[in-house]
Amino acid sequence: MRVLLLATTTGYQTRAFGEAAERLGVDLLFATDRCDMIDDPWHDGALAIRFYDEAASVATILDAAQRTPVDGVIAVGDRPTVIAARVMKALGLPGHPRSAAAVSRNKRATREHLLAAGLPTPTFVDGSPDDDLEHFASVGFPLVVKPMALSGSRGVMRADNRKELSAALQRIRTLLNTADIQAERHEAHKLVLVEEFIEGREFAVEGLMNRGTLDVLTIFDKPDPLNGPFFEETLYVTPSNAPPDTRAAIVRTIADAARALGLYHGPVHAECRVNNRGVFVLEVAARPIGGLCARALRFVRREAAQAAATSEGHPLQNSTGGEISFEELLLRHALGEESTGWQREAMASGVMMIPIPKRGIYRGASGLDDARAVPGVVDVRLTAKLDQLLLPLPEGASYLGFIFARAGRASDVEIALRTAHARLAFTIAPEMRVLQSTHG
Ligand code: ADP
Ligand code: CA
Repeated sequence: MRVLLLATTTGYQTRAFGEAAERLGVDLLFATDRCDMIDDPWHDGALAIRFYDEAASVATILDAAQRTPVDGVIAVGDRPTVIAARVMKALGLPGHPRSAAAVSRNKRATREHLLAAGLPTPTFVDGSPDDDLEHFASVGFPLVVKPMALSGSRGVMRADNRKELSAALQRIRTLLNTADIQAERHEAHKLVLVEEFIEGREFAVEGLMNRGTLDVLTIFDKPDPLNGPFFEETLYVTPSNAPPDTRAAIVRTIADAARALGLYHGPVHAECRVNNRGVFVLEVAARPIGGLCARALRFVRREAAQAAATSEGHPLQNSTGGEISFEELLLRHALGEESTGWQREAMASGVMMIPIPKRGIYRGASGLDDARAVPGVVDVRLTAKLDQLLLPLPEGASYLGFIFARAGRASDVEIALRTAHARLAFTIAPEMRVLQSTHG
């Protein structure tokens, strides 16, 4: 059996898929967004495609699939979801329809579909960042300004008045003009969405759809207040401590939202805000949770977990024997296994995405050993590269690294993550100004 993995780069997440594939005895075929393979960690020879060129990418992949048959397809990250959808359809594999993947990547289209389905939706308007301020101010303050088709909270800003709105639009205008975003050649990257600010607690939902039915694998609490002006994701902790009726409402609403977008089969990562007016879906992505965060999830067979819970009265824990990684579950699902035979382990688990505190050159970190020694902490992994220019949100698009913790209770996971983070110190030097010589 062979699974095609569409990924932006051959980064950590693809490595985790490599390990899971080895365990399962499954071959992986990679397709990545680059012209030449610079590194080829498994010497498999990834297919070089251009995500912005949908038709050519699909053709390249289908051509390769003729020689190297593919039994399943997984898209990692937002950008390849549409290409993956077309490939799956062409190969006769169940997946999300192309149209649903495209809607999920576009914030206005998402809003329109959710509104049409009767789901709680903030007032929204779209436009170019050059449009008249009053057009955007019409949704009322406070509001949120966001690029139409970026992800990871990039460019997302709250504005409480016209002055802040004007500044936010200016900032987005500059951001959308940067080389890396221009390189994506995406039409929607010229546009912004402005919507009413929704108060409330925020949650993330990870799920897998089995032919039209959403199986919610877990609900993560985002225990840090996300009130802006920027919306840095930091903590994800599961299981959620929300009351059962709130959790049920989240599951129901995300299932309705996935259906409204037309998602059908495959991974779903969704986010929502909950207040006394209801569950407001922020986004439903046709892909799994990003990057290293997937490491916070482990799965066990449902019958085994249920048997253990009823007979022994204590959950299955630390028994690595029966546990699988999220990547393994995704591979199994891509190869036709239903997700419902699995459930998240009984232990509480969480991840902190270590935010970039300020702009500058990364010179290193201290306190790693102390952070790793915090009870409950499973791993501290710094992903920033030495001498790399760090860019915080709203322009930035990465983290310094990730802290993982597990414990019997979610509250202890949160404490462990915060304690470990507090033990880390980062050296960030001022940016060097390159003096340009005027003579050749
Ligand atoms: P992205 O796709 O870049 O992650 P989102 O639309 O998910 O963009 O927004 C990122 C974050 O900004 C959300 O997780 C949330 O914290 C905040 N946010 C976005 N829209 C709203 C809104 N209408 N009201 C309140 N907060 C919002
Ligand atoms: Ca988001």
